[in-house]
Amino acid sequence: MPSRPDAGNRSRQVFASLLAHMPTSLSHTSKLGQPDPVAILGAGPAGAAAVLALLQKNLPVIWLIRPRPAGEAAAVGEHLAPEARPSLARLGLEHLLESSDHVPCPGIVSHWGSQDAHEHDYLFSPFGSGWNLDRCRFDRELSEVAREQGAKILKIRSLESIHRSSGHWNVDVRTFEGRRYPISVAFWVDATGRSAALARQMGSQPHRHDRLIGLFASLPARHSESDVRLLIEPMSDGWWYSLRLPGGRLIAVYLTDSDCLRSGIQATRSLWRERFSASGATQARAARNAEPQTFRAAPAFTQALPEMCGEGWLAVGDACMAFDPLSASGITKALGDGIAAADAISGYFDGHRDSLESYARSRRAAFVRYLKHRQDHYRQETRWPRSEFWRRRYGGSTRT
Ligand SMILES: Cc1cc2nc3c(=O)[nH]c(=O)nc-3n(C[C@H](O)[C@H](O)[C@H](O)COP(=O)(O)OP(=O)(O)OC[C@H]3O[C@@H](n4cnc5c(N)ncnc54)[C@H](O)[C@@H]3O)c2cc1C
Repeated sequence: MPSRPDAGNRSRQVFASLLAHMPTSLSHTSKLGQPDPVAILGAGPAGAAAVLALLQKNLPVIWLIRPRPAGEAAAVGEHLAPEARPSLARLGLEHLLESSDHVPCPGIVSHWGSQDAHEHDYLFSPFGSGWNLDRCRFDRELSEVAREQGAKILKIRSLESIHRSSGHWNVDVRTFEGRRYPISVAFWVDATGRSAALARQMGSQPHRHDRLIGLFASLPARHSESDVRLLIEPMSDGWWYSLRLPGGRLIAVYLTDSDCLRSGIQATRSLWRERFSASGATQARAARNAEPQTFRAAPAFTQALPEMCGEGWLAVGDACMAFDPLSASGITKALGDGIAAADAISGYFDGHRDSLESYARSRRAAFVRYLKHRQDHYRQETRWPRSEFWRRRYGGSTRT
């Protein structure tokens, strides 16, 4: 559902005329006479949203996708909050959620602060229900839509070199097949998630605010378990979230600090088991004596870039700032960032040089608000005052 096509065409026209008349200012024209593309690195929701929003503005894009190396955990984060709906509508993606692989989720049940269950019903949300996503499928569907809409996609192994000259980027990539391939790029979008791989190359090293890690397992749900709400259950050194997916699968994730773990995957798995057996409502959702079918650990720390943009680049999604999964807003934020990034880039090409800084300013303000909410929320759980995990979170942000 392309919105504001006039603005998009105007950007494209101004961009083309800049290319024709000001070859050294913002970008340059390739040998074929085509404008250089905006390059997006990273194939998660933030990258996909940036690609789709840039295409809506008729700006040429090249999406650099690195298939996940063996051993790198597949995407985690399955609960899509109702607040994602406006971004999905703006990107023309609402139909994706009609798939029976994504389950409408009517709300959240939380045991935060006491053993009692507190219910937050999405019935009262102006956006309607949330969803429990088959996350790998969701990410794959986003890239299929982008491909259908004309995104040029290049599978790469790595960025070999990148440097800026005369207002554009000269880049060498190693293709998936192993060839070295030069491209010329007008603008970079870092959508590489918590690794912030491109921003680091630009000299912006993410600041970490904690050591949170998610121990993630998928296991069979109890046969009688029909509640598809997101369940949250704190424990002495962390907290659980769990939700039901189609096919009777239950996702159960324990969030704790990485320095509470003994090293090694077996030790990690045994900590998950130990905490799972000691849990109440979380364990009750799983089939009796259920064994995890998949297990992995994923970084879940809060972090933000000190510089979220620079001349000819900006960062979106987790690459820009990554939130505690407690906020259940990472995917929503990633989609919103992709849209806002396209507006900022289009403004930049239209000659509004402050549009990138204004993008970064609003993200920094959101990060400050998030840190305050995170502290307020953790302070509502007071049952383990001696626990290092909880004490760390009562005192506010500590950069690691
Ligand atoms: C345990 C846990 C639970 C979560 N639960 C939820 C939840 O329920 N709801 C929610 O909304 N959010 C949740 N989140 C957060 C959510 O998953 C993220 O915020 C969201 O995925 C961010 O999207 P992204 O596109 O920015 O990054 P990602 O989804 O991380 O995508 C980054 C992409 O970049 C690629 N990449 C990385 N490095 C490179 C490189 N060097 N070159 C090329 N490509 C690269 C990756 O392969 C990947 O495709 C959770 C996070 C964690 C850790």
